[in-house]
Amino acid sequence: MRHRIAVVGGGPGGLTFARVLHRHGYPVAVLERDPAADARPPGGTLDLHEGLGQLALDKAGLLAEYQALSRPEGQAMRILDTEGTVLRDWRPRPDDRANPEIDRGQLRDLLLGPLDVQWGRGVTQVVPGTRDGVLVHFADGRQEAFDLVVGADGAWSRIRPAVSSVTPHYTGVTSVETSLDDVDTRHPDLARLIGDGSVAVYGVHRSLVAQRNSGGHVKVYARFRAPLDWHTNPDRHMSLSRGAGLDAGLDPADVEAMRSSLLALFDGWAAPVLDLLRHGTAFVHRPLYVLPVSHTWAHVPGVTLLGDAAHLMPPLGAGANLAMLEGAELAESIAAAPGPGDLDEAVRAFEEQMWARASRWAKITTAGLERLVSPDPTEAIALWDQVQPS
Ligand SMILES: Cc1cc2nc3c(=O)[nH]c(=O)nc-3n(C[C@H](O)[C@H](O)[C@H](O)COP(=O)(O)OP(=O)(O)OC[C@H]3O[C@@H](n4cnc5c(N)ncnc54)[C@H](O)[C@@H]3O)c2cc1C
Repeated sequence: MRHRIAVVGGGPGGLTFARVLHRHGYPVAVLERDPAADARPPGGTLDLHEGLGQLALDKAGLLAEYQALSRPEGQAMRILDTEGTVLRDWRPRPDDRANPEIDRGQLRDLLLGPLDVQWGRGVTQVVPGTRDGVLVHFADGRQEAFDLVVGADGAWSRIRPAVSSVTPHYTGVTSVETSLDDVDTRHPDLARLIGDGSVAVYGVHRSLVAQRNSGGHVKVYARFRAPLDWHTNPDRHMSLSRGAGLDAGLDPADVEAMRSSLLALFDGWAAPVLDLLRHGTAFVHRPLYVLPVSHTWAHVPGVTLLGDAAHLMPPLGAGANLAMLEGAELAESIAAAPGPGDLDEAVRAFEEQMWARASRWAKITTAGLERLVSPDPTEAIALWDQVQPS
């Protein structure tokens, strides 16, 4: 008899899990809150690492398709100082396949393939250990029972409380994202500045990074140390900007107010760098939250977590990679379990493996964030020199 398996969340982790199970002939219910695949903008480009995200795609039988879609040239990185002087200008070799970039939307569509996702099925909670199995409660009031529920529902997971009382905490670093469209035609100077990949500028306690996506779309990330309420509390504003023009009660949805606040915050930086903010179309405020570095839990039969739901960490290029590999590994363990009684053992073994690897990456990315948004901008360059093979 086949197990009744559900994965909550159709992000990179949940879809990889479902796709690998599907490849092994196992049915799985993919329960996704969004009403449709394209219900919201998919977010910025992702670099998938050879031993992580790419390995997961290989397990899903999708590596060749990824390679055809991905942008190896997108690995290029240019680092400037705040006056606009180029400090590093690294370009990958044409055959470099270590971390090619792919748009999130393209990756999602690649993973979706034949999967029959149940869109618009927001989960509110799961209750393990009932007579019918694990009971999933939906936002529309319905309920459904499964033998295994995998929480791949991201940072604010509704599945996590079934195994752990831990919740994410604020890192002290916040992020405001904006984007530029059709950059090669509309902003050719910025297109040259950004090049094929990314441009990054590091200052004291703040950074600006612009990343090229496909189709001339660019995502810009302004990151800075600030209290969580920096945009609503006037006193906090003053300490952050040293009085340099941030308005009290700033509404992140007010594009012009956000733009002028950010321009004040990055005042004095080179004009071409500030143009990244001047031409940004909309601004999204995204404070960076994390789970504790070594988040584990006492195993609960019938429920597990993967990806950000299990180990939310600073966004330094690992989260989607880990979520995907975990999805693939859990699916393979389930498919390899010899009998119905072995499902729980397969999940336990998966959890041990996930915790050990995620803890290593959480340490790396936590230390990395400290150095990238630090009082000493040379720390960011030193970090780049450490991780980048010359
Ligand atoms: C700016 C930025 C840049 C990043 N760059 C990279 C990078 O280059 N490389 C990298 O590896 N990682 C990167 N990351 C991290 C990466 O985005 C995440 O780690 C990754 O998306 C986690 O995948 P996931 O599947 O665990 O969760 P998510 O991607 O968060 O997906 C969760 C899914 O669950 C759904 N969901 C949520 N709640 C419910 C519910 N109650 N019921 C049903 N469905 C629900 C959501 O709609 C969503 O589809 C970046 C992150 C940020 C913020």
